[in-house]
Amino acid sequence: MNPQYITIHNTANSSAGADAEAHARLLAGGNNRTASWHYTVDDHEAWHHIPDNENAWHAGDGGSGTGNRKSLSIEICENSDGNYAKAEDNGAWLAAYLMKKHGIPLSHVVPHQKWSGKHCPRKILDHWSRFIAKVEAHYKGEAQPAEWDGKSFPGRAAFIIGQSHPAVTLLGKRLIAHGYGDYYEVGAGPTFSEVDRKACAAFQRAQGWSGAGADGYPGPVTWERLMASAPGENEPEPKTEYHRVKVDGEQVASFAKDDNVIDKVVEVVRESLESDNKEIKIEIERVLL
Ligand SMILES: [Zn+2]
Repeated sequence: MNPQYITIHNTANSSAGADAEAHARLLAGGNNRTASWHYTVDDHEAWHHIPDNENAWHAGDGGSGTGNRKSLSIEICENSDGNYAKAEDNGAWLAAYLMKKHGIPLSHVVPHQKWSGKHCPRKILDHWSRFIAKVEAHYKGEAQPAEWDGKSFPGRAAFIIGQSHPAVTLLGKRLIAHGYGDYYEVGAGPTFSEVDRKACAAFQRAQGWSGAGADGYPGPVTWERLMASAPGENEPEPKTEYHRVKVDGEQVASFAKDDNVIDKVVEVVRESLESDNKEIKIEIERVLL
């Protein structure tokens, strides 16, 4: 095959661990579907399964379709424990690399949908033009690195001892919010350390997990639970409501709001009316604290 197109797919496999290496093992181990493709890319690497000059069976357009006969195929992973934005960015980079290598124009970088109508790549079709713009940026060497969105699970690669990632600071802040501040002497920071790992392991044990589930390296479930509110966090302070009674501008009594507050206020008013003053100014304020 002399490749003239590059076809983009998503793996449609969001299972944790379904990264590029796992798909390489799947292909090498004889996958039970009649399917093959050239490259799989995830948030940290790309695997090359079939030489570029050989046909793969990926486009759903049969043995004589242009998709299978003339196009290179890239599967972009969507495993839940990876950083999907980074995987997609890596896919755009790989497409640009293959454009250069084979002299393929940008207009020939196409979605799987073009060949067979299948809703693939399912996570890119709704922003296909943005994806193509990113391919072009990589082609021109102008692409910015994929950015973390500041809240979703950033992928396991963000948590390597001694390495920095902004998500590590958020991890520390959330661990502190959940009551694991004793592990931190100087607060949360961007470099993943043994302090973070130990605090995270304690949090994981508190979820009832053990072994690899409590190794201190956050996965997507740990992350989701850490991002959830800690007990008492973000709950509004209980409001206090009471009635303040003033007679002639002077506060003479205050009563908490309860079933008897009217009787109590009436009692104060009655006593005040029994005084000899000709004119009495009685004020009742409802106070919310
Ligand atoms: Zn596909």
